[in-house]
Amino acid sequence: MRQAQSVGINLTAKCNATCAHCCVESSPRNAAALEDDQVDRIVEDLIAHPDVREVGFTGGEPLLRRERFLRLVRRVTDAGLTATCVTNGFWAITPKAAASTFRELEEVGLSSLTVSFDDFHAPFVPVKRIRNALDAAARSSVPTILNMAVSRSQDSMDLLRELGESTLGVRVTRFPVQQCGTGRAIPVEDLFRKPLEELSLHCPGFEVIYHHDQKVYPCCSPPIFDTDMTLGEVGETDHEGFTRRLERNALLAVVQRHGLGWFVERIRALAPESEVARMESAVSACDVCAAVMSDHESLGALRHEIVAAATA
Ligand code: SF4
Ligand code: SF4
Repeated sequence: MRQAQSVGINLTAKCNATCAHCCVESSPRNAAALEDDQVDRIVEDLIAHPDVREVGFTGGEPLLRRERFLRLVRRVTDAGLTATCVTNGFWAITPKAAASTFRELEEVGLSSLTVSFDDFHAPFVPVKRIRNALDAAARSSVPTILNMAVSRSQDSMDLLRELGESTLGVRVTRFPVQQCGTGRAIPVEDLFRKPLEELSLHCPGFEVIYHHDQKVYPCCSPPIFDTDMTLGEVGETDHEGFTRRLERNALLAVVQRHGLGWFVERIRALAPESEVARMESAVSACDVCAAVMSDHESLGALRHEIVAAATA
C-alpha cells in the first residue's frame, strides 16, 4: 500500500528579498522559473494522481504573482486536495492589506500558511509587516506558522521580542541554517553543529519537489538543491513516473532504511581522507546526506553494497 503524498512546487526563483541563507539562491534578479504551462500540467497531473493529497507552493516568493498563485490554489482545493504555501510576508504592508490577503487565502481554501521571517529576512521585510500578517492570521481561519532560520550570531531572539504579542497562539519553529545555496558563505563557526554521534542520522522523509531549476527532487530539505540527487527533469515523465523512480532508487532506499550512518561508516573504512570520512559534526542528517550524495567516487565503489542493502 502506498502512502498519501504531499508534493511541492517551487514556482519561481524570483523574490523581493536576497537573504544571506537562501537555500535556493533566490533574488529579484534570479529569473529561473517553471513556465506557467509547465505548472498547469504538473497541477493537473497531481490532481489526477490517486496518492497525492497535498500540494505545497513556494518559490522564491509565490505571492509576487498573487493572482496566478490564488488561481493555482483554487484549482487544487476545488479538486479536493489540500494546498499550503510558504511566503516571506512582504505583502502585509498595512493591517488592512494583511487582512485582505488573508481573506483571499480563505476564499481559495488555503489550508496552511508558513511565514518565513528571521534575522536573515529582516533586512528585506520590515518586522511591522510580519506583525500585521500574524495579527491578521489570528483573525482568519488559515492556520499560520512562523518559521525562523537561526545561526549563532543571527538567533532572531530580538525579533521575537519585537513581534511581541503578535506571536501569541502562533506556532513558531526555529531551525538551524545549513551551508547551502547562498548560505554556503555562512562561516562554519556560526552554524549550530553537533557531533555526528549526537545527531539522529535518519532521513526525515521524502516529498517529490518540482523545482524552478527544471529538476525534480526527492525531498524539500535545503541542501538537496545543491546535489545532483534528482529524479529527473520536469516533463520527462508524469508524477507516477517520478514516484516510481523514487520508489526504485537504491540510494534513497538505503538512506531511508538504514540512515546516513550506514554510508558514513562505510566511507570511513573505504576512503578515510574523504570529506565524508573526516566529517565530525554536522547541522543535521540532511547536511550529512548532501555530503554523501556529492561523494560520487565512494558511492561508485559501494555500488554493489548499496544495491544489496536496498533490498535487505
Ligand atoms: S529565503 Fe525566502 S525570502 Fe529569502 S531570498 Fe530565499 S526565497 Fe526569498
Ligand atoms: S536525509 Fe537526504 S533524502 Fe532525506 S530529507 Fe534529508 S536531504 Fe532529503
